Amino acid sequence: MEEIHNYPFNSVIKFKQPGRSFSYKVIKEGTYPNKESLAYTLPPNKYRIPDDYIIETTWGRSTNQYTVQCFINYNDNKPVFQVWYGKCFEYRVSSVKTATDAANLFHKHYTSQKGTKTSGIYLFGLQLKILDKARDRKRCAHVLKQIDQCSNSTLTRRATSTGKHMITKFNEEVPKFYNMEEIPQGNLSKEWTINKNINKLIEKNNYYEGHSRKPLFDMIPLDHWLPDELHVMLRITDRLWSLLIAELVEQNSFNDTARKIIIDEMKKIKVNFQFWQDQGSKTWNYTSLMGNDKLKVLQFFDLTKILSRRRAAIVRDLWDKFYELYIKMKDPTTNAEDFKNDAKNWLTLFLTPSEGIPNTREFKKGLYQPDNITPYIHVLVYHISEFMTIHHKWGLKAFSCSGIEKKNHEQVSYFFRKTMKDGGGKKKSQSSAIVEILQHENRTLFYNHNNIPLNCQNPKTIHIKTQDI
Ligand SMILES: [Zn+2]
Repeated sequence: MEEIHNYPFNSVIKFKQPGRSFSYKVIKEGTYPNKESLAYTLPPNKYRIPDDYIIETTWGRSTNQYTVQCFINYNDNKPVFQVWYGKCFEYRVSSVKTATDAANLFHKHYTSQKGTKTSGIYLFGLQLKILDKARDRKRCAHVLKQIDQCSNSTLTRRATSTGKHMITKFNEEVPKFYNMEEIPQGNLSKEWTINKNINKLIEKNNYYEGHSRKPLFDMIPLDHWLPDELHVMLRITDRLWSLLIAELVEQNSFNDTARKIIIDEMKKIKVNFQFWQDQGSKTWNYTSLMGNDKLKVLQFFDLTKILSRRRAAIVRDLWDKFYELYIKMKDPTTNAEDFKNDAKNWLTLFLTPSEGIPNTREFKKGLYQPDNITPYIHVLVYHISEFMTIHHKWGLKAFSCSGIEKKNHEQVSYFFRKTMKDGGGKKKSQSSAIVEILQHENRTLFYNHNNIPLNCQNPKTIHIKTQDI
């Protein structure tokens, strides 16, 4: 079976089959009516029957060659088949039954004596695939305008529906490429408590999954390690801040203007803060803040200056609730069980998922992902309450390292302000910076202990003129 054509550029279609061949000239391609009224030829072929259709069909050879014109028009939702024949197509037969019935009528009136019968399907060219396709294409073209004929609002609507269509397809395909199952570490309902035993690890370094080396401090039982509230606050605040900056970078708004706004806002809350760009990697660095400054940022930084009002409110809520947790963590009267619940609720807030389809009005952007959780966040949520229970007698604040941190800060400041920083010409008499610091501390302690006021005046050199006697 073969169709030879250059349709629609040439309206002639040659159709060849062993034993017969037809030549068609398409006069009117026709259209398919809508589903409700569309009629089909009989099984097994069940070709669709077009409406408003005219084709001129020629078959046979030399003296036995015939040419007829076939019409199909739907009347009362039913196709009417007509065959026009004769030199000027002046005769016609008509059937409301089938194409074959119309063909039979035609043969009866015109060619029966000559004994050639033609199937109605071929006579009407209903088997022609190219016409079938062309009608389908026309049907689509009827529904969809060409892009240069669309108004702006149509284009927007089309783009939106294309996007929706694609996200549906995308979501269908995604599970084939990514594991959508929750990974065990991401299981928020799991109760994480300290259950490892240092003695097992001393016996066998890889006793627990994930351990491979000899423990560094194998003399300390694992439940004697205490999280330091100061560092919980410092490191989680760092995380919240860097997530904020990452969000600005992501939405392409981390520019000079935004950096200036941040610095100004920091000035307003009396925090000394700067940005600077790394020469090599071009990444932006910023001042690493001291504990007190971090608390100021956590409480008072006005997020609406750099985020939309709605977004700022969500992030502000997360920051406020973290600050509350920090205060409760230090408070010896906090109930461990309550703290556990509060901390878990905070983590749930931290992990608020997005809702709806991105870039639509209904879309609600969530907060952060499970892989944004740091070890300190894990400790805050799952272990702080545990330690509160264990060390109820003292309270966590008893183990705070903030005193040591303060001392470290003072010594570092003293190193830069008052010592020769181990330099200074390498004279033999020159003591090392650490000795200078120790001596300074010694003196401070002595003054404190003996109540010696520190505001004594520096010694002055006095020149005395002696008179000649
Ligand atoms: Zn843990």
